Amino acid sequence: RTTVAIAVAAGLTLSGACGGDSEGGGGDDSLTVGVLLPGGGASRFGQFDRPLIEKKLKQLCPDCPAATVGATAESAIQRQQLEAMITRGVDVLILAAVDPQRLRPSVEAAHQAGIPVVAYDRLAQGPISGYVTFDGAEVGRLQGEALLKAMGSKAQGGQIVMMNGATTDPNADWFKRGSLSVLEGKVKIGKSYDTVGWRPENAFGNMNGAIAALGANNIDGVLAANDSLAGAVISALNAAEVRPLPPITGQDADLAAVRRIVSGDQSMTVYKPFKPAADAAVEMAVALGRGETVESIATGTVDNATTKDIPAVLLPSVSVTVGNIEDTLIKDGLYTVDQICTPK
Ligand code: BGC
Repeated sequence: RTTVAIAVAAGLTLSGACGGDSEGGGGDDSLTVGVLLPGGGASRFGQFDRPLIEKKLKQLCPDCPAATVGATAESAIQRQQLEAMITRGVDVLILAAVDPQRLRPSVEAAHQAGIPVVAYDRLAQGPISGYVTFDGAEVGRLQGEALLKAMGSKAQGGQIVMMNGATTDPNADWFKRGSLSVLEGKVKIGKSYDTVGWRPENAFGNMNGAIAALGANNIDGVLAANDSLAGAVISALNAAEVRPLPPITGQDADLAAVRRIVSGDQSMTVYKPFKPAADAAVEMAVALGRGETVESIATGTVDNATTKDIPAVLLPSVSVTVGNIEDTLIKDGLYTVDQICTPK
């Protein structure tokens, strides 16, 4: 008998039970996997990661029926969710932490309860057993390179604004360092903001501040760390009637951003193929839940503040501009042409 519980900040907890194959004479084959994902500005976790994780879990446990209950994006509530999963006695956790530092005591509690934790996308703190993510430095480099290319003659000596992610998310700093490695020495960074919780409304306020401080016509490009921040930056530029819009980057292949790329309002997005990430995390979780090691799944190791040599899978991303939407997002089945071309 295998139970799967998935709680996502996008608002769902899914749990189900299925009859597992009893291998060899009535042994207890039961396995419970708890999955916690963050919500917030980006739609990817609810829209892509969650169903892909569910699908992979179903593949490994074909008869799991689903039932849903509510969940949230707040760190304090994610902590409660995690602790509830410990109380419930899950066998293994997949965790994309809203705030890894604040989740750390719960990760420690899970460890003490003998529950291995696989960190997903964001490096969790505390004793974790595996990590699956995309190379964040590469994400930042792809953004920086695409921005410079789109800036043309302004790529040397022009002025940009950086709209970075949340300081509570270790990925945000990883992305920022990656993009700075490309941008520094080429453009002037007029303003650089870290956003609170990746919130677009915070980016909107910051962008208004940048426009007021630098002058609308002195912004030659915006390094927006993801698509929801890019949307907010564009709203602020539109409200200030900036025409033409400067080049603006993004990340996540949000449908709204892909439409903006087609209409010319956004220069690019970084597409992180979610399926290999979901698959690897589920494979790790199931292996750990069965008491197996995950070294054979990992492609390398990472360290967090407490744990060294965590088996890790580091995946590559793809820079998407108007020229390769078809070869990437459409080919991978994220969207159809009609979805992209038909306004909501
Ligand atoms: C993820 C990004 C996402 C951001 C905001 C990051 O940790 O890697 O894909 O846009 O969080 O949710």
